[in-house]
Amino acid sequence: MEWNKPFQKLSWIVIVILLLLMLAVTVAAGFFSIVTFQMIFYTAAACLMLVFMSLVISFFAIYRFISNEGQLTGKNKSTLRMALKIFMPILLAVSNIFSYRKDEIRRVYIQANNAYVLGMGIKAEPEKTLVILPHCLQSSKCRYRIREGLEDCQQCGSCNIGDIKQLIQRYGVHAELATGGTSARKTIKDTKPEFVIAVACERDLSSGIMDVRGLPVYGLLNKRPNGPCRDTFTDIAELERMIQYFTVREVPESNVSIEEHN
Ligand code: SF4
Repeated sequence: MEWNKPFQKLSWIVIVILLLLMLAVTVAAGFFSIVTFQMIFYTAAACLMLVFMSLVISFFAIYRFISNEGQLTGKNKSTLRMALKIFMPILLAVSNIFSYRKDEIRRVYIQANNAYVLGMGIKAEPEKTLVILPHCLQSSKCRYRIREGLEDCQQCGSCNIGDIKQLIQRYGVHAELATGGTSARKTIKDTKPEFVIAVACERDLSSGIMDVRGLPVYGLLNKRPNGPCRDTFTDIAELERMIQYFTVREVPESNVSIEEHN
């Protein structure tokens, strides 16, 4: 059987690290005095206290934000940033491990991230604004292959893609369909946008926002009345509002015909 080399390499690294740790603890037990051990434990306790304090502050930042129905005030912006960087990833990981209300926790993260991004005062060039769309927005009955761009959409009105095509032409922003997280990351790497509006489900949005550190991402949830990854749709009026909010160009009142697709 052909052994997987990265598996072997990583296994040996983990084994050697554990062995070194075990040796270090054994040597320390023989040479260190009780006072030295006390110092080590006091230092560890102080570090844990710092982590504890930052988690409590982050929790109240998120709690206050939720209680205020998503209104972000100037002074709690930096606390919210800390909550998004430290507290929420820990909470998301715990909710994943225990499969506890994953989508509800992810929604709070997306909402808090959006409030933070809204408060950043972003005004990006439309050409530097990327709208990433999930492929499941396209009608499963569509006869056209729309994988590379929206140009192939015939705007028949059966799904959101036609409306979005109209929107991106109107505002001059860039839009791409992504088949998943890897494809979305590749699109970002290739197009190098300054700002991203991403439409996706709770799972893809929360992991995507966490992945692209340093790049502001506003998340819009898609609606899934037909189950996951099939004939989904999104709020086009909200998408248009966000494009207007985050881009520099002055645009006339919307004349886009927005239809409900469900
Ligand atoms: S609007 Fe019509 S043509 Fe365009 S992707 Fe949807 S179903 Fe296909």
